[in-house]
Amino acid sequence: MATYLTPALAWRRLREGNERFVAGHSLHPNQDASRRNSLVEDQHPFAVIFGCSDSRLAAEIIFDLGLGDAFVVRTAGQVIDDAVLGSLEYSITELHVPLIVILGHDSCGAVTATKSAVETGEMPAGFIRSLVERITPSVLTAMRNEQTDVNEMVVEHVKQTARRLADSSRVISAAIDDGRAAVVGLSYKLDEGRAALVSGIGKL
Ligand SMILES: [Zn+2]
Repeated sequence: MATYLTPALAWRRLREGNERFVAGHSLHPNQDASRRNSLVEDQHPFAVIFGCSDSRLAAEIIFDLGLGDAFVVRTAGQVIDDAVLGSLEYSITELHVPLIVILGHDSCGAVTATKSAVETGEMPAGFIRSLVERITPSVLTAMRNEQTDVNEMVVEHVKQTARRLADSSRVISAAIDDGRAAVVGLSYKLDEGRAALVSGIGKL
């Protein structure tokens, strides 16, 4: 029998896991054979984490989670495309996930590349260009607000990503409107390991 957490409880559980990780007291829950066996037929993750692909941002590790806890979607610079939206909508409609997490981090390479493309006017080659194009609006907003540090741009990009999700997906906005799901935007500090809240949409 599935038990679904409220958005507020899901956010609390995630926060507590990150606090354990920051303090060096991770419990490594839900990683044994019995947990694995219990999940063969079904999954009921309590959060969907949409974050940057950066190797230092391993979602289950930094929130001290295990198998079946989080549905994870990651692209460089957490840029949104149709497959990302489809994955997030799947987690909402099929898995009834109550919390959508947008996870950016300081010194992000994709945001740094976008900052340099905007400053020099030189776009990167190949499909890296489509990452940069999707991050450019966030970098431009940050610059307009006189935020020139890459980590400030990361925070702006997390906020805009959260808003864009709610704006572009009717499935997500409907879930937010009737309280089934909420969105939190987090910015992760590589040295400390802390994921700080920078934005929230919906009732938490
Ligand atoms: Zn990154």
